[in-house]
Amino acid sequence: MDWAVEIEHLNKTYPENHVTALDDVSIAVKPNELFGLVGPDGAGKSTLFNILTTLLLPDSGHVTVLGMDVIADYKKVRSTIGYLPGVFSLYPDLTVEENLIFFATMYKSKISENMSIIKPIWRQLLPFKKRRAGKLSGGMKQKLALCCALIHKPTILFLDEPTTGVDPVSRKEFWEILKGIQQQDITVVVSTPYMDEATLCDRIALIQDGRIIEVATPNQIIDNFEGTLYTLTTNNIFGLLEIMKQCTLPCNYYPNGDQLHIVFYEDAESSSNAFQQFLQEHQIEFRNMKRITPNIEDCFIELVKPK
Ligand code: ADP
Repeated sequence: MDWAVEIEHLNKTYPENHVTALDDVSIAVKPNELFGLVGPDGAGKSTLFNILTTLLLPDSGHVTVLGMDVIADYKKVRSTIGYLPGVFSLYPDLTVEENLIFFATMYKSKISENMSIIKPIWRQLLPFKKRRAGKLSGGMKQKLALCCALIHKPTILFLDEPTTGVDPVSRKEFWEILKGIQQQDITVVVSTPYMDEATLCDRIALIQDGRIIEVATPNQIIDNFEGTLYTLTTNNIFGLLEIMKQCTLPCNYYPNGDQLHIVFYEDAESSSNAFQQFLQEHQIEFRNMKRITPNIEDCFIELVKPK
């Protein structure tokens, strides 16, 4: 297969603070995929994006974007990709319209040529076209940044944490926009620390401490969950966590708001009964204990737990 992005054994360290940001990372993204890089702060997502977009050199490994080497062919790569970095990348003192003109001109492109790609997003920005970009709301800034990253019709779009700090309603809308971009034959590679957004991707790579933990579809990751997950609600989650230190059942547990999530590794039915007895012996009041299907966050916790 001709991969849209192919990353092989990529390593990157920051010697100044002895951090291994990327540790033997290998991922391949299919053409026209909506691919997510999912992991917490400090996992290495921005480092990887900066290498993919030719802004940072790796220590070792090999990366191609649309078959082009990100080091040897960096100029060609730059003209073919769009990048929405994690930090605000527009000119705050230029108006909305001036920013778009600036980015189109920089890529020797004309707004009129590619208006069809950005039209649904641009329409929402039109009422603010004379406003300085620095004065837009968080969600609107992201929409303008997206228009600027798309105005030269890239074949592949990289977005580094585009929804961080954006309110939940705008986050949902932003993902719908990403689906729309994918439908215009643009490969989309996006990073996020929000596990719930992972399910909106075709495939995801889970990353932690610079290492890729799993690459699969969200459903495959959920299907591969080992163990049986239960939840229960309690008014005293801290007290319960303290008592859990005495629990000898083969299980893993963690708080989820006022709920406890608990994974049993042996026969679920008898483990669950034994656990309820344990709670009663320790006079822990609880309710709504039931078996649930894990979400991506549960899978992530399970995959990164100390062995
Ligand atoms: P993420 O985007 O997932 O939050 P980053 O790639 O920003 O992760 O960071 C990965 C690790 O590398 C973190 O420990 C971070 O502190 C470190 N790091 C990132 N950029 C630099 C830098 N320019 N100099 C030194 N350390 C860095």
